[in-house]
Amino acid sequence: MANTLGIIKPDGVRRRLVGKIIDKIENAGLIIRGLKTLRLSREQAEKFYAVHESKPFYKSLVEFMTSGPIVVMVIGGHGSIERWRELMGATDPAKAKYNTIRREFATSVEKNVVHGSDGPDTAKTEIAFFFKEDEILPKE
Ligand code: UDP
Ligand code: MG
Repeated sequence: MANTLGIIKPDGVRRRLVGKIIDKIENAGLIIRGLKTLRLSREQAEKFYAVHESKPFYKSLVEFMTSGPIVVMVIGGHGSIERWRELMGATDPAKAKYNTIRREFATSVEKNVVHGSDGPDTAKTEIAFFFKEDEILPKE
C-alpha cells in the first residue's frame, strides 16, 4: 500500500487539466493523500531531475518544469505506484496506450502533462522532496 508522487506539469496546469486528471485518479480507485500547488525554482527542478543530468533533454526539461506552477500530489491506494504509471501512459505520447493521460493530453515527449515515481524507492524520496509527514493523510 505504498504511496507514490504525482505531478501535474506546467502544461497541464496552464491548460486547466487539473480537475480532469484528479478525476481520473479518483475514478481509478486511487486516493489523493496530499496536494499542493507551487512553482519549482531552477535549483529544485535540477535536483528533482538530477538522474537525467547527462541526457540531451535535461536543460530543456528544467526550463519547461520551471515555466509555470505545478500541482504535486501524494497518491495512495492499492498498487498506486504501478497504477498511476499505467494511468499516465508511456513517456512519449505517440507510444502511450489509448485512454491514458499522456495519449489524451500530451503534446510532445517533453510536454507530457504528468509525472509519476517509477518505483518504491523513488516514490519515497520524491514524496519527501515536496511533503512533510504531517501534510500527508494517514492510511486508514
Ligand atoms: N523527456 C524528454 N525527452 C525524452 C525523454 C524524457 O523531454 O526523450 C522528459 C519528459 O518530460 C519525461 C521526463 O523528461 O517525462 C523524465 O523522463 P523519464 O524517462 O523519467 O520519463 P517518465 O518517467 O516521466 O515517463
Ligand atoms: Mg521517470
